[in-house]
Amino acid sequence: MNQSIAVIGSSNIDLIAQVAHFPQPGETIGNARYSQAYGGKGANQAVAAARAGGNVTFIASVGKDTFGQTMLTNFSKEGINTDYITQSGEEPSGTAIILVNEAGENCIAVAPGANALLSSELIDEARIAISGAEIILLQLEIPVETVAYVVGLANRLGKKVMLNPAPAQPLSDDLLKHLHYLVLNETEAALLVDHPVETTHQIEEAANKLLQKRVQTVIITLGARGAYVATRREQQMVSAYGIQPVDTTGAGDTFCGALATALSQQKKLNDAIAFANAAAALATTKLGAQPSAPTAAAIAALMKEQSFSSDEDF
Ligand code: ADP
Repeated sequence: MNQSIAVIGSSNIDLIAQVAHFPQPGETIGNARYSQAYGGKGANQAVAAARAGGNVTFIASVGKDTFGQTMLTNFSKEGINTDYITQSGEEPSGTAIILVNEAGENCIAVAPGANALLSSELIDEARIAISGAEIILLQLEIPVETVAYVVGLANRLGKKVMLNPAPAQPLSDDLLKHLHYLVLNETEAALLVDHPVETTHQIEEAANKLLQKRVQTVIITLGARGAYVATRREQQMVSAYGIQPVDTTGAGDTFCGALATALSQQKKLNDAIAFANAAAALATTKLGAQPSAPTAAAIAALMKEQSFSSDEDF
């Protein structure tokens, strides 16, 4: 059964200028190449969940401007319910201004704009969507007080919350103990447990510390190494799918969105992790965040192809 997912988070427009070199203070570079992309972790995860076959409602705040309108049209095209996206005249839509040099390095200035207006009052207005959802998916690009409010509300309503604590910031024990799923990369895990998370031993130690804080399921994504999944009952390392990566931007967002979709379809945890792992691997084979999120059919095809070859190994 396909239950719904409420994604609550940020939506940005990425304004990208490719430059030969980064400008010095006061310098103007006249021959930059401009492009524009949809971004924001909330939006990326909502799109990834919808492409993977999820029934998604996105709860967000955008500006009453051209970017806000374009984003709404894009979400509708992706089949996402936009009834709870507020357009505010007080702040412009969230933007990320990104300079990319010839070495592929970037300098980024994020202006949260309307994302910062996603308040507990707006969450109350979306209460029906939250109470009707199977999974609530959150990140940290909206005010942390709003995240805490949603977690409290979801807990009272008996809903499962999945948090992707990105960008990394410290979180209270009270918030952690109400999470069903915490999905985080090595950098985010290192900040929460206060030690490096690189070796297998450090990964296990980090997962155990987070379980001790009463998170029910800890999933540490490990790039090309795959993911480490830990509950109080079992822990395991899940290898990544074998693909040729082109651009890993948005891999973590696709993992979260696809995982939420699989769980909303009542898949078992191990199967849901395999689905998310395959979706995220496919996301690394194309440029960009939202454009690279795969469809359910593409994910199923990769899972079939590679479980066939791994079956042959035994
Ligand atoms: P983030 O984008 O948040 O830094 P990761 O780099 O950990 O997240 O990647 C998220 C997931 O994307 C991984 O758990 C894995 O499933 C997939 N992934 C990332 N890089 C690769 C790769 N080179 N090959 C296969 N899968 C990958």
